[in-house]
Amino acid sequence: MDYTNDEITNSHPAVARYVNGRYGEPELPDDYGKVHAVFYVEPGQETPLIWRYRSVSMKRLAQIKRIEYVEGWPPLDAACGARVRVILPMAFHLGEDNLCPPCKRLAVIWAMDPDECIRQIQDRHDKRRQHDQMKSDLEEYHAAQERDLERKFTPQRDFGT
Ligand SMILES: [Zn+2]
Repeated sequence: MDYTNDEITNSHPAVARYVNGRYGEPELPDDYGKVHAVFYVEPGQETPLIWRYRSVSMKRLAQIKRIEYVEGWPPLDAACGARVRVILPMAFHLGEDNLCPPCKRLAVIWAMDPDECIRQIQDRHDKRRQHDQMKSDLEEYHAAQERDLERKFTPQRDFGT
């Protein structure tokens, strides 16, 4: 099936950042960079666990009618894992320019098989968490080794006293 010009139901385009307008209010910048996708379920449907810890719930995403700015912390996770702060109210459209390739790929999967899409996103979340854990373990290990070395090379002062 050709999805090239399709709108993806239960999705919105989203971009990484907003700028502050004349009165300090958030605005969509002219150069908004790559367009990512966020997905949501209709109220009443079961909410997948991912994204729940982020500031905008999937249920809330189903109801937005105008541009939504995620101010403060945390930002929202796009499908690809990028952090986004501006959610546009229309549906994500595969024919748009500037689409983030991983989000586009996931949007096609979302349209055909939402469960599979969620599984892939969750999988990426888990891998990233494992990666972060490994990284901090390794840093801890190096810090311990450095402390060891320092101890070995610190001159001992208590000779024969
Ligand atoms: Zn993306």
